[in-house]
Amino acid sequence: MIVLDGKALSIKVLDRVKAKVENLSKTPHLAVILVGDDAASKIYVNNKRKAAERVGIKSTVIELDTLISESELLTLINELNSDADVTGILVQLPLPKHIDKNKVVEAISPKKDVDGFTPENVGKLAIGLEPYFYPATPQGIIMLLDEYKIPIEGADVVILGRSNIVGKPMAQMLLKRNATVTTCHSYTKNLEDKIKTADILISAVGKKIVRCKMVRNNSCIIDVGIFRDSNGKLTGDVDFDYMSQSAGYISPVPGGVGPMTIASLMYNASKVY
Ligand code: NAP
Repeated sequence: MIVLDGKALSIKVLDRVKAKVENLSKTPHLAVILVGDDAASKIYVNNKRKAAERVGIKSTVIELDTLISESELLTLINELNSDADVTGILVQLPLPKHIDKNKVVEAISPKKDVDGFTPENVGKLAIGLEPYFYPATPQGIIMLLDEYKIPIEGADVVILGRSNIVGKPMAQMLLKRNATVTTCHSYTKNLEDKIKTADILISAVGKKIVRCKMVRNNSCIIDVGIFRDSNGKLTGDVDFDYMSQSAGYISPVPGGVGPMTIASLMYNASKVY
């Protein structure tokens, strides 16, 4: 069994991004908007700021009061859209309940949408065109599969989860690479039977769901889930110890998809349109 080392690959990707940024005529500038005091969001934003600094991308974190109105936030995004110095805009989610997340995401210029969440970028991906940006987590997973030369074309891939940030774009990106994709969710019947068909299993649920004997021998398991167990330990969707006895490849938590997401985001943030 081979452990897919996302930490090691993320360092390689970040080094490549750094070298690219050094040779650009214009320094990319990422604006990160953080609304409110959510502790986890603050950590994520700080990690993004540090990663940007590491690769030579300028970053500005704009911290806004949790009570900011939706229209004020939309005005700020419009200003950033027309600011020629700003090349990427990222709004840290979740937003406070009084703000419509969809309106905010829609307001971001698709050419600065480093998360790849705007309807134009999502739509382009869905109809097989090239979006300006691919969403970071699925793009990082593809980088990991490619690094370990895991065949995607013709592979049977089962994805657990259908979120807009992982499951759905993951399915589209794998279809683009000629995989046969099954997307499962909380209404899926006979989940175990479907999991057994997978050459590649990608789990993005957020609870322990993939257990012993569920997977086909020598399959590749990508664990996207990340949460704390009852002992406060950071863990993923997959029972790693059991699974490592039968899987061919497995991504650990932590040290798998997480660092790849950040590296992939920096890859996006280095693109200047
Ligand atoms: P999400 O919005 O939390 O949704 C979870 C998905 O799992 C939903 O589609 C849900 O189905 C499905 N689900 C729930 N119970 C299920 C079951 N019993 N069988 C099959 N599917 C089931 O998803 P997310 O935002 O993609 O996050 C998923 C996990 O990945 C979380 O732990 C999150 O922290 C982690 N994550 C990690 C990274 C990273 O960089 N490492 C990035 C993003 C997310 P329904 O649609 O029917 O409700």
